[in-house]
Amino acid sequence: MKLVAIVGTNAEKSYNRELLQYMQRHFSSSVTIDVAEIDNIPLFKETMALPQAIQALTDQISAADGVIIGVPEYDHAVPAALKSVIEWLSCNVHPFNDKPVMIVGTSLGIQGTSRAQDELRQILNAPGVGAIVLPGNEFMLSFAPKAFDDQGALTDAHTVSFLESCFQHFIKLIKMQSGTSSMAVKWQGHYDVIVLGFGGAGATAARFAADNGARVLVVEAAPYGREGGNTRYSAQHVVMGESLDDLTTYYHALNAPFVTPEKTLQAYLSGMSRIPAYFKDYLGIPAVSWKHDIKPGDAVAIKKTMAEYPELPGSQTVDFALVHKRDKDAGLWKVLRQKVLDRTDQIDVWLDSRARQLIQEPTTGIVRGVQIERHGQLVNVHAKNGVVLAMGGFENNPELVQTYLHSAKLTPLGTLFNRGDGIKMAQAVGAKMWHMTNYESHGILPGITFKEVDGERGRQIEHWPLLKQGSILVTADDGTRYFPEDAPHRHGHIKTHGSWLIPMLNQHPYLVFDQAQYLDFKAQLAENGRLPYPQFMDKLISAKTLTELAAKMDVPADNLVKTVARFNQAKQMGEDLEFGRHVDSMRTFDDGPYYAIAAANDVLNTQGGPQRNEQAQILATSGQPIPHLFGAGELGGIVANCYQGGGNLAECLIFGKLAGEHAAADKADADDVTAAEMNGMNDLVDAENAANVTLGADQYLGRSNSGLGGQIMVRVTYRDQAIQKVEVVQHHESEDVGLVAIDQVPKEIVAANSTDVDAISGASASSRAIKEAVQDALKQVKVTQ
Ligand SMILES: Cc1cc2nc3c(=O)[nH]c(=O)nc-3n(C[C@H](O)[C@H](O)[C@H](O)COP(=O)(O)OP(=O)(O)OC[C@H]3O[C@@H](n4cnc5c(N)ncnc54)[C@H](O)[C@@H]3O)c2cc1C
Repeated sequence: MKLVAIVGTNAEKSYNRELLQYMQRHFSSSVTIDVAEIDNIPLFKETMALPQAIQALTDQISAADGVIIGVPEYDHAVPAALKSVIEWLSCNVHPFNDKPVMIVGTSLGIQGTSRAQDELRQILNAPGVGAIVLPGNEFMLSFAPKAFDDQGALTDAHTVSFLESCFQHFIKLIKMQSGTSSMAVKWQGHYDVIVLGFGGAGATAARFAADNGARVLVVEAAPYGREGGNTRYSAQHVVMGESLDDLTTYYHALNAPFVTPEKTLQAYLSGMSRIPAYFKDYLGIPAVSWKHDIKPGDAVAIKKTMAEYPELPGSQTVDFALVHKRDKDAGLWKVLRQKVLDRTDQIDVWLDSRARQLIQEPTTGIVRGVQIERHGQLVNVHAKNGVVLAMGGFENNPELVQTYLHSAKLTPLGTLFNRGDGIKMAQAVGAKMWHMTNYESHGILPGITFKEVDGERGRQIEHWPLLKQGSILVTADDGTRYFPEDAPHRHGHIKTHGSWLIPMLNQHPYLVFDQAQYLDFKAQLAENGRLPYPQFMDKLISAKTLTELAAKMDVPADNLVKTVARFNQAKQMGEDLEFGRHVDSMRTFDDGPYYAIAAANDVLNTQGGPQRNEQAQILATSGQPIPHLFGAGELGGIVANCYQGGGNLAECLIFGKLAGEHAAADKADADDVTAAEMNGMNDLVDAENAANVTLGADQYLGRSNSGLGGQIMVRVTYRDQAIQKVEVVQHHESEDVGLVAIDQVPKEIVAANSTDVDAISGASASSRAIKEAVQDALKQVKVTQ
């Protein structure tokens, strides 16, 4: 967003200029503010030609989204220089017309330019000027000389906070004016509740919103077949515990020294203590208790404890719920997904559709809807009662990973579609963030996995003893060791000086080993026919000496040589004084050759995001709920410090239910719209049905996403070198001319035995989509005939 800030005086020294320059710096992360001067502009005279400086200012204002005017007060009025400029700008040129304007001012005395601001408001409202002046939000700064420090920054925190609040309202006014606010929005669809994200939290919220009578739209960025977020990749363990008291004690200890608002925590823990009833009542399945039901010989092994931190008080109550006696098979996800499919009477699902921004009413802060990118177009969908943010974390957003997790990149072990959109969208409507620096990991050793090319998921290999037993170690960017490779870890966190932390993040860590270790890997390969990481041997780099290997790894040779020497020394001394690795797991490095394989920091899921309360309402920075906005799942998860496995899926179930129910509830301040042209599309159902479309001999299925209403699917019968029949088996085209295309174009294609036929006038998109779908089907003819 670009703003122009006009210094309302031609004085050389001006505190109003200083105020505008301060705003320019202070708000630079969200908007660009160009400060404009009026000192070189002649006095207005109607008969005079438009001065060049006025033309330049006109262009500048026209190109800006809004204008800020810093107005001094001279003799109880607006300075003559500013009034003259506005006269120029309302005669022949009218750049202020419909332009949002914010007035600020500062004075030497106590009045803070109040009279000048009043007058300026009136002037800007004059018919020839026609500005849209920000109502209220009058920023009047008294005693200017004392208000700024030597660097020109405002010194009083309350003043800064008031300025920020006025400015936020101004931004909302601009958005409203530019058509991105509720009041000016052209709505294309309308639901009671919109749920963003179709993972565990989103599926749960949608289903409970529907069960509470809401018409629901679920919006998912991933295409069909790739929905489900991290939930589908997860191990499917849901934490539970019989005793609420013990759970409370345990979670206080897990969070310590941090504090989670008790009501929010209790909403979570009381839900956790009732997970078996939840499974039975809402999922229709008796929960398998890992503690009580798993027996020797089952597909999952008996565990001594399910508590990730068994040493903490209350841990004895911790158990895992499973949907059956297996894990890591998307079992729970499939149940949650089916619950959404079971409610297609109330729930529509848009796949391959990315939510882009929340549409918030500027004056009330109510979230009225969502702008969604669907098939290359931005569409605005209205939500009468609530929007649920369930878009997962920011695992795949390098900028957010860099900002909050201090790594240039983390290799994701789960979905590639969690790109931090929910964080940005929540921030844009003023949400308060929490737990942004918390994340979980796994990989092959604490915090790391093998390095993959960008855009590929990393591997999670829990049990590969050769990676941490023998003459093998892990190096940091400088070729030195940085953690005990055999350390027991808890979701990637290892005990570090008393705290459980993910080992320091490096840009290019390596696993380094010697010839003996290499031979052990070879032996494992020979014995099993493959290694747990099939690319392992292909990705190795090797060298005769450590010095040569260091050059290939791009680490200082001295360090690598010393690292290996220290490792050997530790083994000989019988103690790894530096890192505390068990010497039994260490073997002295031999004389080479030596090997290395690139590793990378990895992430299972992030925990940070907008803070929610016990009703799953998302809170603003003020601590008050943002009206009509709810959250669930790992986007703004509850984990303040140590993470107990199974906790994220428990959050999806518990807060998903709360979010769905509260979002569905009728709201006194709900508004209604009638737009429904985009209602009634369900990509999930369509794609599911696609699988059910029967194909006879010589029949082929083709699809196109270019239709006005989404996917068009055709069944083409092709025999004897000719298109015999084209049936549109699925479409969402418009009721009028779109239907003509659906009727006509297939006939014309058959008649011409070609897709090179004319489009139906007024339905070119529908016609094109049908032709594309037929071409898609014909591609398969070539493959199979
Ligand atoms: C390998 C692995 C194993 C795990 N095992 C467990 C376990 O056993 N137990 C446990 O409790 N936790 C586990 N976790 C963590 C847990 O899976 C996640 O934290 C949890 O599933 C998150 O659920 P969610 O619904 O919040 O997010 P997700 O399931 O990630 O769903 C978010 C969805 O939002 C979509 N989305 C993102 N941006 C947009 C947008 N702009 N518009 C529309 N849609 C968008 C994404 O495509 C995604 O489908 C594991 C994680 C991984 C990766």
